[in-house]
Amino acid sequence: MTAPRLHIDLGKVEHNARVLVSRLEPRGISVTGVTKATLGSPAVAGSLLAGGVRGLGDSRIENIEAMRRAGVAARTTLIRSPMLSQVDQVVTFADVSLNTEIRVIRALSRAAVLRHRPHGIVLMVELGDLREGLLPGDVESVAREVQALPNLAWHGIGTNLACQSGVAPDAANMGELSALAESLEATFGVVLETISGGNSANLEWAFGGTDAGRINDLRLGESILLGLEPLHRTPIEGLHLDAFTLVAEVIEAKDKPSQPWGTLGQTAFGPKDRAEDRGVINQAILALGRQDVDPAGLTPPPGVQVLGASSDHLIVAPGAVLLAVGGDVTFGLDYAALVRCMTSPFVTKVMMGPT
Ligand SMILES: *Cc1c(COP(=O)(O)O)cnc(C)c1O
Repeated sequence: MTAPRLHIDLGKVEHNARVLVSRLEPRGISVTGVTKATLGSPAVAGSLLAGGVRGLGDSRIENIEAMRRAGVAARTTLIRSPMLSQVDQVVTFADVSLNTEIRVIRALSRAAVLRHRPHGIVLMVELGDLREGLLPGDVESVAREVQALPNLAWHGIGTNLACQSGVAPDAANMGELSALAESLEATFGVVLETISGGNSANLEWAFGGTDAGRINDLRLGESILLGLEPLHRTPIEGLHLDAFTLVAEVIEAKDKPSQPWGTLGQTAFGPKDRAEDRGVINQAILALGRQDVDPAGLTPPPGVQVLGASSDHLIVAPGAVLLAVGGDVTFGLDYAALVRCMTSPFVTKVMMGPT
């Protein structure tokens, strides 16, 4: 079988989605399943939907287009602010987008009119993490214009924390979003359909026992796919941590000194820390590199140590594990490693389990 290959266990993805959906439901929160780490894989999208997510979100319109063309019928949300240059694709393939710029919203309206499409707008609010978002005081005037623009429907508000500055979702910032939703509803005499509290980093808050207030949606990617809570990267009870695994093939296995010799300069990827002198050790090279994966995000099998990586080579010390040329090594992946694998044309994606 070809290598490297990424094994995707769709049954485990579906299980993880189902557990999170069922734990959030009693709190009045539904889940938008985020597919961006899988390049909008229609198979993964199907597993998320089978697990009970209410809709799908992706940061790239190309991924949403791919899911649509593959026949995925769920409601799709573009979760990165649309590019002004892509508004046509956005209204064609996404049902809803998260927005912060009135110029973009006006262009979405024009595109939606031309294509005879309705398009939903969720306004993102800046609550301290300093990535996307209107300042809270600016939301009302933008919402007023959204309501007046043809072919647009104002679905609600949302926020995104933790990604840029590590600001944790808590009772204070979630309470602020709830209060803003209620004041906007009172001002405009509407009931907002979507009050989207954030991403996987919101789970600690959501399961922490405080009232969820008006928050009724979370956009979850990493927690479903990898079973981790991203603020502290702790495993979430009852979830699979190994829905994604990466298999690489050994292309050299030899006993070599643990210390390099000769005059030392920089490596292909910058300066390198001096290796510890362990005498002669067994060392193996895998046909896997920075073009395929983020080596820092790999979890090797017990006893196996990653010594270094270049574009196309991963050097490991197999320890007690016996590695022979042609043999396989299976790794766990973090989010960065998964994204790189999914994006590399050299990594074969192997779907397993229910489709
Ligand atoms: C990536 C992203 C998410 C999902 O984040 P996870 O940590 O993978 O759950 C949610 N919302 C926005 C705006 C995002 O960019």
